[in-house]
Amino acid sequence: MKLETSIQEIKGIGEKTKQLFAKIGVYTVGDILLHFPRTYQQFPEPLSAEEAQPEDGACAVRGMLRQAPLVRRGKRMEITVAAAYRREAEPVELIWYRMPYLRSQLKPGVSYIFYGKLLTEKGKKKMEQCAVYDETQYAALRASLQPIYGLTKGLTNQMVKKTVSQALDAVKFPEDTLPAFVVEREHFPEENGTYREIHFPESFDRLLEARNRLVYEEFFYFLLGSHLQRQNQSAVKNSWVFPPVAEDDLVGRTAAALPYELTAGQRESLDSLRRDLRGECVSQRLIQGDVGSGKTVVAFLAMLDAVSQGYQAAIMAPTEVLARQHAQTFGQMLKDYELPYEVVCLVGSMTAKEKRTARERIAGEDALFVVGTHALIQDAVDFRRLALVITDEQHRFGVRQRETLTKKGAACPHTAVMSATPIPRTLAMILYSNMKISMIRELPANRLPIKTCAVKTEKRPTACRFIEREIGLGHQAYVICPLVEASEKTEAENVLEYGKKLRDFYGGRISVGILHGKMKPAEKNQIMEAFAAGEIQILVSTTVVEVGINVPNATVILIENANRFGLAALHQLRGRVGRGQDQSYCILMDSSGGEKIAKRLEILNQSNDGFYIAEQDLKLRGPGDLFGVRQSGDFNFRIADIIQDAGWLQKAASDVDKLLAEDPDLKEHMNLKRYAGIFMERNTYVL
Ligand code: ADP
Ligand code: MG
Repeated sequence: MKLETSIQEIKGIGEKTKQLFAKIGVYTVGDILLHFPRTYQQFPEPLSAEEAQPEDGACAVRGMLRQAPLVRRGKRMEITVAAAYRREAEPVELIWYRMPYLRSQLKPGVSYIFYGKLLTEKGKKKMEQCAVYDETQYAALRASLQPIYGLTKGLTNQMVKKTVSQALDAVKFPEDTLPAFVVEREHFPEENGTYREIHFPESFDRLLEARNRLVYEEFFYFLLGSHLQRQNQSAVKNSWVFPPVAEDDLVGRTAAALPYELTAGQRESLDSLRRDLRGECVSQRLIQGDVGSGKTVVAFLAMLDAVSQGYQAAIMAPTEVLARQHAQTFGQMLKDYELPYEVVCLVGSMTAKEKRTARERIAGEDALFVVGTHALIQDAVDFRRLALVITDEQHRFGVRQRETLTKKGAACPHTAVMSATPIPRTLAMILYSNMKISMIRELPANRLPIKTCAVKTEKRPTACRFIEREIGLGHQAYVICPLVEASEKTEAENVLEYGKKLRDFYGGRISVGILHGKMKPAEKNQIMEAFAAGEIQILVSTTVVEVGINVPNATVILIENANRFGLAALHQLRGRVGRGQDQSYCILMDSSGGEKIAKRLEILNQSNDGFYIAEQDLKLRGPGDLFGVRQSGDFNFRIADIIQDAGWLQKAASDVDKLLAEDPDLKEHMNLKRYAGIFMERNTYVL
């Protein structure tokens, strides 16, 4: 079987299963091998019959039988009964249905491990249908790790495991996909073994080896592939003509009229963008600035530069809520500073007629601010003279989407992306080697650091009263819950119930609104607008507010089950407050009771600097956390994490450089060239 073979060729996969797999993006044998486990589970340490407690979930009980199991004939089946003892302790009753052969297999006086769910009935411990292992078997199981896969409704973990296992046995890997000098230097496992160990690791060490190879490989092909792509696209001449920048031109005058002074980073970014517009070639720039660093106004002023010269400038946001907010902010600024330009907004939830009008204006008018979401690029939008495209919070976009937009219009526009994910400069230069980079390191001077505290759930009523006090002062608050609605699988707060509870708690004194990803876009917009207008005082929401929302009057954010979020995500969420001049607060509700988590949350308490937070979080996480929270959503890497695996990224970058220095056209390495092509085709990366 080849990697490209359809998954249906695997035994036992019919039409229905095939469709389930399609839902998680698995179509071929290669795809299933690349469907890496989300995390791994280890068999628990065996306990004595005494120690084992029913609430432990699946548990392993070590014990022996005093006598051979008895087989009783039940109404419909044979029932095998035994009791597990350990010395004189209280026994655990063991029951199996339809397994009479156990009577001759299980020997009295031999130590076994019984694995299953422990229940109590009338004060007695019992286990039904548990698995039985001898000491050696169980020790091997303990060392191995069980894969837990990302699933979809109807697809079980067991089904995925079985399919992966069959694919591993059937597939033929072509020649090794990495250069021999790398494999030797790093002692990487060979390819077949790598995939086996990432899915069914024999031990944690093996898993790490496999992961390292896959991480390296991903970076290697990403860097090689993007180099090849760039080779094909030579620099495009800048066809837009801008007059030289002057202190007192429209952009300069507008910047001077702002109610605040731009920070040094904002000024530098704006100057660079303006210089780009006047450059010889079409430019691509990355602007990195932490949440709240004021990227929007930089975008506005750079766009004004283009629009005031009679061109169009567009900004794309990852969500409708954000797009509408930008449209509103821009419209307000145009009014406030008496600028004779208009904003056209184009988002998915607009009526067909509204969309048509917007499209007609984009196709027909010069000097226009265009604000939108994906709808901007998905549909056929003809830009009349688009000179600048800015992508906000770029990590939600894929490279293909940006390419489509870039092709619109006759001449190629300049592009800039704005990112709030703090990546150290050295890494940014490797990853975004095709872009110029600007950084906004400082927050506006009028900001007070957000006061952050982590509390246990008993303190919830105190927190609610604290929120009430802030609202009494005319402010607003966010409450973040991980879930939309109650779930059997996950124990965490949910927006629907929490909203109700809060309304009861405040007894109508405070208006509480809810927001989550399952709502219709129009409904979401309506809620966000009501919150921005101050009609809603507390917004209970999932992390849909994580990206970019700006309501400066909100001064408190309460994050429920904060222990479930990565520090980078918490930092992003916290950035929703502290955007105005008033003191803001972030309350992290820790539902875990774990020491380590308290320590992590403490880092947020110490700092408001996203770069620092990312660094510290790394230090605290051991290898066991490797498969935990992703630190950066900037790139859609399957397994690599740019912060955590920075060392591999640097190695891969220098290897790719070396390879290209020796063999610029990869004539000696045709297979690598081919794989790089396949790799870039298969993955959508943000470039
Ligand atoms: P982000 O970088 O997260 O996108 P925003 O652009 O939304 O941040 O800016 C957050 C808030 O800071 C806005 O209310 C904006 O008006 C304000 N702001 C931007 N620049 C400055 C500045 N130099 N001084 C004071 N406030 C500023
Ligand atoms: Mg923003």
